[in-house]
Amino acid sequence: MSKKGRVFSGARPTGRQHLGNYLGAIKNYVALQDEYECVYCIVDLHALTTVDTTKDLKQNTYEMALDWLAAGIRPEESIVFIQSHVPQVTELHLLLSMVTPLGKLTDLPTFKEKVRQNPNNVNYGLVGYPVLMTADIALYKADSVPVGIDQAPHIEFARETVRSFNYRYNTKVLIEPQMKATEIPKVLGIDGQQKMSKSLDNHIELAATPEETTKRVMQMVTDPARIKRTDPGNPDVCNVFSMHKIFSPDDEVAMINVECRRAGIGCVDCKKRFAANLNKHLEPFRAKRAEIGANPDSVMDVLNDGAKRARAIAAKTMEEVREAVALP
Ligand code: SF4
Repeated sequence: MSKKGRVFSGARPTGRQHLGNYLGAIKNYVALQDEYECVYCIVDLHALTTVDTTKDLKQNTYEMALDWLAAGIRPEESIVFIQSHVPQVTELHLLLSMVTPLGKLTDLPTFKEKVRQNPNNVNYGLVGYPVLMTADIALYKADSVPVGIDQAPHIEFARETVRSFNYRYNTKVLIEPQMKATEIPKVLGIDGQQKMSKSLDNHIELAATPEETTKRVMQMVTDPARIKRTDPGNPDVCNVFSMHKIFSPDDEVAMINVECRRAGIGCVDCKKRFAANLNKHLEPFRAKRAEIGANPDSVMDVLNDGAKRARAIAAKTMEEVREAVALP
């Protein structure tokens, strides 16, 4: 089947992935492969803008790649690689920076937010983050970038930067990427309050054992108004129920929806059911992860092969770019 176009997406190396990463990105990455030629990049250079130490960078990259592969990213079809393995991205970043007004970068809400989060480390790389992101997309001539609606300003920035470059050098060599608006569900952590995140320690790791998973699920906050077993609950405000809707069979979801409201089912039982369904859902993932992880070199082989294929595209783009800029 011929594919609709080329998709690019990058993610920071955050180590073992959790349910939020799975539902918010990985699941979509896997599905996109059926229709698009996919380029998936682990953006280690981007991570350098904010990390305090690089000691876990290699391991985090490995763990994330392993999770991607176990979840169904198909490296024989998709290009999966590490950003820094394709040095051309830094050259394109530099050339794009020459057509990017500084004020435009410092005005971006994401930059201001990063400054708030890291007031003692506002480095040059942090300011240029969106330019590097544009270079990532443009280098591989991706025409679609799957992002949530909150990322729209970044894609608009990338489009403008590509336009500026093409205008300045009177060329069409770089492609303006289109935003592929993707519905990214907000996955709450086990606290039922904040977005699932490793740094908040409210996450459920995909690679956790069934026992660890069940333990985390049993800690999940439910309808806060339901104090006693005999109190009727409200599934509409309960994070456990939101998860049931994703991972449990329809008839079970329908039963809980009724029984919770009349105190026919208790939260402990409800969570046990969810843990069982989640563990069942994750079984094939865990089996595949164990199989691939038994040979760690195979993960690095995938990343090296991906980098080789990515470099081939990058080299061609940069040849055209250098010619367009008229570098001697
Ligand atoms: S019974 Fe289930 S859906 Fe209802 S409040 Fe408890 S955990 Fe939530």
